Amino acid sequence: MERQADRLVNLYEAAILSFFRRRPMWPNQKVMVMTLQCGICGKKPSLGHQIARRGKAKYLGGVGRKITGISRRRFEPNLQRLQVEIDGTVQRMRVCVQCIRSGRVKRPTRRKPFLMPNL
Ligand SMILES: [Zn+2]
Repeated sequence: MERQADRLVNLYEAAILSFFRRRPMWPNQKVMVMTLQCGICGKKPSLGHQIARRGKAKYLGGVGRKITGISRRRFEPNLQRLQVEIDGTVQRMRVCVQCIRSGRVKRPTRRKPFLMPNL
C-alpha cells in the first residue's frame, strides 16, 4: 500500500516537474496567470506563434515573402485596473479593454448626472 502511495506521489511530482521543465521554452513567461485574467469575461493569456518573414511581397513586385523563423509566443489580454461597480459596491478589478469598450463594465458615478430644473 505504501509503495503504491509513493508511486502516486512520484507520478504527481514527475507531472509537476515536466510541467516546469517545459516552461522555460515559452518566452515572455509570467508565473502568475490568474492575475492576467479579465474579471468580467475571464479572458486569459493564450499561446501562439511569432512568425518572422523576410523579402518583398509579390504584389509589390518582389519574389514573395519567405518565412525565416517560427517561435512560440504568448498573447496577453489588454487588461486595465479599474474601479467597477458591482451590486452597488465599488471594487478594483482587472478588466480587458474589449469588455470596457463594449459597455459590459459599470463604472462608479463620480458626480450626479445633470438634470434640468423644473421651471
Ligand atoms: Zn473581458
